[in-house]
Amino acid sequence: SRELRRAEMRLHRDEFDDHLVVVSGAGSGIGRETALLFAARGAEVVASDIDLSAAKRTAKEIVKSGGTAHAYQLDVSDPAQVRVHVDAVLQAHGVPDIVVNNAGVGAAGDFLATPEEEFNRVLSVNLLGVVNSSRGFAAAMVERGQGGHIVNLSSMAAYSPGKGMSAYTTSKSAVFSFSDCLRAELAEHGIGVTTVCPGIVHTNIIATTSVSGVSPEEERELQQVGDRAYALRGYGPEKVAKQIVDAVRANRSILPVTPEARIQYHVNRLA
Ligand code: ADP
Repeated sequence: SRELRRAEMRLHRDEFDDHLVVVSGAGSGIGRETALLFAARGAEVVASDIDLSAAKRTAKEIVKSGGTAHAYQLDVSDPAQVRVHVDAVLQAHGVPDIVVNNAGVGAAGDFLATPEEEFNRVLSVNLLGVVNSSRGFAAAMVERGQGGHIVNLSSMAAYSPGKGMSAYTTSKSAVFSFSDCLRAELAEHGIGVTTVCPGIVHTNIIATTSVSGVSPEEERELQQVGDRAYALRGYGPEKVAKQIVDAVRANRSILPVTPEARIQYHVNRLA
């Protein structure tokens, strides 16, 4: 399958030539893999993250393998920072063709035990981060008039409300609804909007989040990645990145991703 992957790599290598792709939260996990994959297929990549050194690592890796990438520090939850970031990107690199609003934080805990600031922080990053970035970049895309594509990271958690999930599920299901509205408004400008709903991917978020209530049947499909934390077996961020790239290519609207979405899970507490 390595050969297959190589062959596929060759096949698609130039497919995003002359495309500018902006990825938030590109320092780790799904964002990182998405940035690497678009770059491997010819795109110039803007990799932003609240953690600048992580963004730089991603950009460096792209440049090392012959691609073009730029690292930026950005906290997507801060609208003023996002405005500055959007202007900087437009000035230095032009209007992006594809924007992947990926930055996010994990959260778990009973609603009444969650401090107000913590709950609001999850909404600020996961929901308003997507909204802030969409506002800036979509406006530039509309003005340019050459279409484009926006990818927003929701989660399978949008379909799995339950105990301990109030902040995270609320943020991610709102991303889902927001994206539907955005798609309806941007369609006439030739701008596609894809909502991605990954299952439990093995990334930093899940490695620091404890999951319980997994049935033996589900357990066969899961792998333990931390203290009582699980991810879906063989379901890494590279796989989600590939699904994102495929969705952009096919202009798919909603990507509930995998059969994994049926696996219910209950998150108890942050480790
Ligand atoms: P996943 O890929 O599952 O979302 P990770 O934790 O591996 O999980 O990746 C999330 C990325 O998003 C990290 O690099 C993290 O630094 C980044 N991030 C978290 N909060 C923000 C924020 N407010 N603004 C920008 N990036 C953020």
